[in-house]
Amino acid sequence: MSLLVVGSIAFDSVATPFGERRDILGGAASYFSVGASLFTPVRLAGVVGEDFPEEHIQLFRERGIDLEGLQRVPGGLTFRWAGRYEGRMDVAETLETHLNVLGECTPSLPERFRETEYVLLANDHPKNQLAVARAMTAPKLLMMDTMNLWIDHNRDELLEVLTAVDALVCNDEEARSLGENTNLIGAMKTIRECGPRIVLVKKGEHGSIVLMDDRFFALPAWPLEKVVDPTGAGDTFASGVMGWLARQDRVDFPTLKTAMAYGTVVASYNVEAFGLDKLRTLRWGDIERRYQEFIRFLDLGLE
Ligand code: AMP
Repeated sequence: MSLLVVGSIAFDSVATPFGERRDILGGAASYFSVGASLFTPVRLAGVVGEDFPEEHIQLFRERGIDLEGLQRVPGGLTFRWAGRYEGRMDVAETLETHLNVLGECTPSLPERFRETEYVLLANDHPKNQLAVARAMTAPKLLMMDTMNLWIDHNRDELLEVLTAVDALVCNDEEARSLGENTNLIGAMKTIRECGPRIVLVKKGEHGSIVLMDDRFFALPAWPLEKVVDPTGAGDTFASGVMGWLARQDRVDFPTLKTAMAYGTVVASYNVEAFGLDKLRTLRWGDIERRYQEFIRFLDLGLE
């Protein structure tokens, strides 16, 4: 099944204890689309400026990503984000955000994109997410991401998007803040009551937890000794989850559990190198190999 992602495509500048990179390809939709393309055909909708180079478009093409929804704004500048990670590297400190074309225009969806059944509304202003959610004609699974910026400043609009989606993916701090509860389980239940039947929460090195209807499930992270650049961990986790669900064309609790394991695997690869450096050479065989190792790692061996 095809999978549509709508969201930011960016030039990122990133500093971590392992080095620095300037103006590399980033953006939530870039990470998501490249990750998900390992699983299923992907359609990408987003806005870039005239400064967006052909080599980045080439990467999307090599991954077979449908670019009919990629809009290049003449004379415009691509969205830019700069961030830094320190210490445990669990949160990015945003140093700069230049919305550029992202603040000036919303991506227009090609007619045939509107029929896509699996949709990820990547981190974006809630009003853009709501417009896309309403434009879809028959979604089987509409998942949204968000961030503290919108939770803190656009709460009412965000709550409206929550009523229009099937699933929310966010990190634990965002979930606590959105659910107005320092207890994560309580926060997740409150969010579910706002609309989405699936609330999927990433906890960095501590793995992930999901609430689907009235059932919880949790997974640890892949044990990784060195995290080089955590940027895109959330987007690539979501790409594995949505990629697997779309590939199976099934949204039920057992399939979601497997999907979370695949999401964990894709995200673990992504953080091993700066930007998209690891993902751009990754093949399905790499995913399958680590997935099998992850299953062995999870074996509780209880008696
Ligand atoms: P993640 O690390 O998965 O939470 O996402 C990282 C990506 O989010 C980076 O590549 C940024 O370009 C992108 N990003 C940062 N701030 C924003 C924002 N306000 N709107 C959309 N995308 C953003």
